[in-house]
Amino acid sequence: MPYARVIVDRSIHRELDYLVPEPLANRVDVGSRVRVPFREKSALATVVALLNESDAEGIRPIEAVLGDKPVLSKPLLELARWMSGYYCCPIETVMRSLLPQVIRRAEVGWKKQLFVRRAREITADDVEELSRRAPRQAELLTAIANLSEPMPAAELLRKQSLDFQTLRALVKRGFAELQEQAVQRDPHADETFIATTNLVLNEEQTAALRAVQEALDAPETSPPILLHGVTGSGKTEIYLQAIKIALARGRSAIVLVPEISLTPQTVERFKSRFAEIQEGVAVLHSHLSEGERHDEWHKIHSGRARIVIGARSAVFAPLENLGLIVVDEEHETSYKQEEAPRYHARDVAVVRGKIEKCLVILGSATPSLESYFNATREKYRLATLTKRVDENQMPLIRIVDLRQERRREKGLAILAGKLRDAIAARLEKREQTILFLNRRGFSTSLLCSNCGESRDCPNCSVALTFHRGAARLSCHLCGHTAAVPKKCPACGEDALIYSGFGTEKVEANVTQLFPSAVVRRMDADSMTRKDAYRETLLAFRAGKIDILVGTQMIAKGLHFPNVTLVGIINADLALHLPDFRAGERTFQLLTQVAGRAGRGETSGEVFVQTYTPFSPSIQFARHHDFAGYFEQELEFRERCDFPPFKHAVLITVRSAHEARAKFSAETLARRLQEALPEAFILGIPTPQPLEKLQGQFRFHILIRGEAIMRLSRLIRETLDKLPFPEDVTVAVDVDPYQLL
Ligand code: ADP
Ligand code: ZN
Repeated sequence: MPYARVIVDRSIHRELDYLVPEPLANRVDVGSRVRVPFREKSALATVVALLNESDAEGIRPIEAVLGDKPVLSKPLLELARWMSGYYCCPIETVMRSLLPQVIRRAEVGWKKQLFVRRAREITADDVEELSRRAPRQAELLTAIANLSEPMPAAELLRKQSLDFQTLRALVKRGFAELQEQAVQRDPHADETFIATTNLVLNEEQTAALRAVQEALDAPETSPPILLHGVTGSGKTEIYLQAIKIALARGRSAIVLVPEISLTPQTVERFKSRFAEIQEGVAVLHSHLSEGERHDEWHKIHSGRARIVIGARSAVFAPLENLGLIVVDEEHETSYKQEEAPRYHARDVAVVRGKIEKCLVILGSATPSLESYFNATREKYRLATLTKRVDENQMPLIRIVDLRQERRREKGLAILAGKLRDAIAARLEKREQTILFLNRRGFSTSLLCSNCGESRDCPNCSVALTFHRGAARLSCHLCGHTAAVPKKCPACGEDALIYSGFGTEKVEANVTQLFPSAVVRRMDADSMTRKDAYRETLLAFRAGKIDILVGTQMIAKGLHFPNVTLVGIINADLALHLPDFRAGERTFQLLTQVAGRAGRGETSGEVFVQTYTPFSPSIQFARHHDFAGYFEQELEFRERCDFPPFKHAVLITVRSAHEARAKFSAETLARRLQEALPEAFILGIPTPQPLEKLQGQFRFHILIRGEAIMRLSRLIRETLDKLPFPEDVTVAVDVDPYQLL
């Protein structure tokens, strides 16, 4: 087949044909990376089909093939095509996510090291003779004589405390040889894992695993399994045993966890259970160096790794014979990529499962409305774990009505009296407390009480936050920082008032209230150093910290047996955002944070401070009533035509010029009006709630409908026909999670 159809790594929105020259014929296959002539230069490209003929004109030959094996399997290529259609995104953009840059560009190779080995038999006489003239060489010669296999030169010399000169001399004398060899960069090379075995499952777990086993037996017909289990109910144990079953059948597995939960602790749990195939567990996360990523990817691609643990993009891991994909904490919004391709890893996992006929398990203590809805409609199979493994009670959740609190205390304390008492009691018993507030900084606004001017970000429509530690004002959206003025820059009066508070102030307040307690803060400001996160968690686990104050960083699946009190400083923060998922997020957050309390011997207590104590999200979370919550939220979604009843697509039009953004959005809306059938609900273009971001004015158009593939195609066609001014950017987000 002399022609190859390729997708070039350029935004041209179409595929091109090239001739496969004879010498390359047996190296070019579907999924190969190639270099092709493109316009006046060369470009890299991915082969998507081999053809016998092509009616394209002026066909030129492929210049070179990269690597010795196709990088993309046929199922992954099919997945890429699906993503392109579903997410209304050019396929070359999808490819950028599917293949890590280091693999696409093939610029980073294997790490090479010099290895030493014997060049010929070495006798006692050889050593004897050398020891008189050159004792150090003789010493090294003895070591080399004892080598059973080649050894890295650097390592040998370090062991013998000898230098390279000495080795060089032995090479010259013909005793030793040096050779370059590729070595693995394994970020976990210096760790050892103690093997663990399957735990004996309780009744609920047994039933859940039985469902998994049945599904693994009938991969062609089995829908995904939604594993709904409260925090600490033993979901991870199910994943581990499910993987074991998949491996025993000769298949491989992917485990997706949110980036923030991809801690050494999590990795260790998996590596230990599969300690006998330690090299067979690959880990993919955003902190790998390019070299490490290259090696991990090849370890997976070559089939040496059989289990992949990773964050969002690990859903594209090039495993063959895939038998299982686990998506832990499937409700997590970090699975959604917020730049093109704007995919959701859970949904991509489900589609990949369908393509590769492999089982998908979605696990969560607070399933997303979409997934739970699918389970009630039998698109997914539901498995439920209602009890904690340790038989502990669910924590007692107490609601603190801040309205009453305000009346009682005159002026508002950060911590209500009851919460303060509860902390004091924990300190006395040497138990630990977590205080949660999803907002960084000290004061959230700075206002002049004389002229009313507030310090806002020049690039975004939000107030600047005062950070006391850094002694700066900063914008949490674009990173802009400014000096803290002593007097109002507008009117010159010394009348500035600081109001609102973030984690930094909570920390200061708690330290003041409990001077003998050890208080630490965990948020993006205090955790800038690479190891700070890990160190803080270790210290907390070891009981060296009494009170941990933090943002969502501490809300995720971490186990701290000695934490018996959790305080949610302001439950309303997430609740009143102009986003149809605000209620769902609040419910999830409260439930997840509450899950941190009382995992050990003593049961836990949670205080939720709020001005809206009767809002359904708070009340249902308080009673650990997922089903009740689900029902009422579903009713609201249906009434308003929101997901899971309709898909939503958010089109954002932005520009540094407000009028141009507005005009372009209005033109686009008019064209969509003509293009879209009535079944689609087309919203009117409006400024986004956060109108200005990073110096750009943003207008959005929300479209809802059921036939998402069709909607995506119509939007793409409409956009392709519209010439937008150069400084106007249009982004299409299918199933959006960011509505602000
Ligand atoms: P989840 O993932 O649902 O939060 P885990 O799987 O992490 O729950 O389980 C919580 C704790 O209970 C872990 O320490 C785990 O080792 C332990 N565990 C899980 N299943 C069992 C079991 N069947 N018997 C004993 N301990 C278990
Ligand atoms: Zn800003």
